[in-house]
Amino acid sequence: MSRKVLVLGEVRDGSLRNVSFEAIGAAKLAADGGEIVGVLIGESVSGLANELVQYGADRVVTVEDAKLKQYTSDGFSQALLAVIDSEKPEGLFFGHTALGKDLAPRIAGKLNSGLISDVTSIDAAGGNLVFTRPIYSGKAFEKKIITDGLVFATIRPNNIEPLQKDGSRSGDVSSLSVEIKDLRTIIKDVVRKATEGVDLSEAKVIVAGGRGVKSVEGFEPLKELAQVLGGAVGASRGACDADYCDYSLQIGQTGKVVTPDLYIACGISGAIQHLAGMSNSKVIVAINKDPEASIFKVADYGIVGDLFEVVPLLTEEFKKLKVNA
Ligand code: FAD
Repeated sequence: MSRKVLVLGEVRDGSLRNVSFEAIGAAKLAADGGEIVGVLIGESVSGLANELVQYGADRVVTVEDAKLKQYTSDGFSQALLAVIDSEKPEGLFFGHTALGKDLAPRIAGKLNSGLISDVTSIDAAGGNLVFTRPIYSGKAFEKKIITDGLVFATIRPNNIEPLQKDGSRSGDVSSLSVEIKDLRTIIKDVVRKATEGVDLSEAKVIVAGGRGVKSVEGFEPLKELAQVLGGAVGASRGACDADYCDYSLQIGQTGKVVTPDLYIACGISGAIQHLAGMSNSKVIVAINKDPEASIFKVADYGIVGDLFEVVPLLTEEFKKLKVNA
C-alpha cells in the first residue's frame, strides 16, 4: 500500500545530520512508491532542502522562524504539527537522536498515535512492514508491525542505508508559515563542549578506551588510531569515572548507544552496562591483556595483549595501508 511519508531533516551546526538521509531510506521502504516529503524546521534552513531531495525526498516543506533557531520541544512540535495538519501524511520518520527522542513521543501523544522507536531495520517484503528494534539494552530484538493508523518511527543512526545521493534530482521546496507562540522555554545560546573530530553517535569507526588506558595521556594513542581511521574516540564509564576523559565520550547503558561499522575496544572489560551501548556494532575488535575478559565474548576479533603495544602497531599498519591504497 503506497503512502505519503514525512521525514524530519535534523540540522546541526548548519548541516543536515546523516541520520536524516538514513530516515529517508527507511521512509522509502515504508512509502511503497508513495511520496516522501522532507520537513525542515529552523530559523534559516531552506538552503538545505536540496540536499534532502538529492537523498531521495520528492519535495520539501520548510518552517522558518527566528523562534525556531534553537530546538525546543514546544516550538518544533507546533511547527511540525502544522506541517502534518497541512500534508496529512500516512507515515512519519525521525532520527533516533536526542532531538528525535524528545520530539517523537510528544508528537505521538498530540496525534494520539503509536510510535515505534529506535528502529534498526525494516523488512518490507510480503506486504507487511516489519520493524526491528533492540530491547533489554540490546540483549534481544523485537519485531513489530503497525496494524492501524500512522506509520511513525524513529531510526537508530548507522543502521539503515541511505539512498545513493543523486545530484541531478530536483524537487519542489515550499515554505509553510506557522505562528510559533507561547514558548515556555527560550534558549538564548547553546554552548557545546569542545569535541574534536567525528561525532561519536554517527561515527563509522570508534576507538574506545577503558580503565586499562590508565590516564589522560593514555588516550593519545587511541586518538591517533581514530584519526587515521577517520573515526571517533569513545570510552567506558570506568575511564570517565577515573577522569581519563569527558563523560560526553561514555558509551553504554547510561551513555551513548552507538552502532559503528567498526568498534575497537581497548582496555575495556566488557561489563554488561558497556555492552548495552556497543554490542550491535557491525565488527567488534577487543584488545585486552586478560584473555578471560568478557569483552572477548562479543568480539569478532580479539587481541590478547597490552594496548600500549598493540594500538600503535595498528596505527602504523593502517597508515601504511592508506599510503598504498
Ligand atoms: P574495568 O572493568 O576496570 O576493566 C579494565 C580492563 O582493562 C580490564 O579488562 C583489564 O584486563 C584491561 N587492561 C588493563 N590494562 C590493560 C592494558 N595495558 N592493555 C590491555 N588491557 C588492559 N559502564 C560503561 O562503560 N557504560 C555505561 O553506560 C555504564 N552504565 C552503568 C550503569 C549502572 C547503573 C552501573 C551500576 C554501572 C554502569 N557502568 C557503565 C559501569 C560498568 O559496570 C563497569 O564498571 C565499567 O564499564 C568498567 O569499565 P572498564 O571496562 O573500562 O574498567
